[in-house]
Amino acid sequence: MMPLTEMRSQCPACGTAMRGDASRYSYTPTTMDKLAVFDERAIVCCAACEFGMIERDVDAAELASYYASAYSGKAKKNAETKAVDLRTRYAYDPRSASQLALIRQHHEVHSDSVIVEIGAGTGDMLFSLKQSGYRGRYIAFEPQREAHDVLISLGAEVHGVVFDLEQARKYADTANLVIMSHSLEHFNPGSIPQVVEGVSVMLRAGGCFFCEVPNANLTKYPNAGERVVPHLSFFSEEALRRAVTSKGLAAIFSSTCGDSQIGKNHQAQLAALEKSGAFVYVPDPETGVLRNQKYHEYLREKTRRQQLRRMMLNLLMKVLGRRLLFKAIDLLRRWRQKPHNEVLSSSAFCYGADREFIRLLAQK
Ligand SMILES: [Zn+2]
Repeated sequence: MMPLTEMRSQCPACGTAMRGDASRYSYTPTTMDKLAVFDERAIVCCAACEFGMIERDVDAAELASYYASAYSGKAKKNAETKAVDLRTRYAYDPRSASQLALIRQHHEVHSDSVIVEIGAGTGDMLFSLKQSGYRGRYIAFEPQREAHDVLISLGAEVHGVVFDLEQARKYADTANLVIMSHSLEHFNPGSIPQVVEGVSVMLRAGGCFFCEVPNANLTKYPNAGERVVPHLSFFSEEALRRAVTSKGLAAIFSSTCGDSQIGKNHQAQLAALEKSGAFVYVPDPETGVLRNQKYHEYLREKTRRQQLRRMMLNLLMKVLGRRLLFKAIDLLRRWRQKPHNEVLSSSAFCYGADREFIRLLAQK
């Protein structure tokens, strides 16, 4: 355990001096691979704004190699699943659709809008935008190489690097809208002020910043399962608002959406997983990454199923042709689509207290 003297002197979110008696938590075991630092370092919480932070920033190179080799975020998962982008006109992604609905209530988005997305993944937001007629300039920062082909095919300008202030300066006063959906929590706590400053630098006057992160107030929701690898920064509503407004942006909307954080029982889930042998790790001799045995078993099985699925798809494409196959998939999606009222009352569209995701809009 780290001696207290080596702790951060200041909270990166609200600037309050850190005290020696700050609450400390450990990471919960993960069903994926992990770095040893997640076992060695605690998560420390600021008493003033409840911002949770890994007690010392993780080395950037170590983090990059972890993401490149072992981390199966959404981008990697999708790339493993899909050789072809099977999204069609009636494809529906509740997260990006509801985010866009919220943004559009406060900020006008049209094809003249320049949009920057930091952590664009496989382009769910860009796809939703295109479905609604957007044809503008879209700049995507996404370090995961597996996602690049899809992003490029959607028309994005792709930067395969981790976003920082230096990158931001290339786009000073350019963006009408900057989007970060589930990416800010992956940045080192020490770099949060710089990332938000970068966002502010890129925005034109009157431009908007949309940010969504897990509602990870660890003191308030101790059993919601938010102490997850590989998150480095853990935001309460207050912490996110303070981090953003301290860089000259004005918060115009802040609330939480999704399922309730109060009723979750993560301890019970962990106990069941532990029993099933989901937490056995073996260090990779080359990278030092702790490989989760069960996870790699699962990946092997998944790869096998995907290969089968891909073969079927290729066969169908040969028989029907790409155009007809996509038309058939789209018809199926259209036939299966839910009534509008059911969609609009789903948890991604509903706001209130103590829900699982924080959404914040701020204006320059
Ligand atoms: Zn704080």
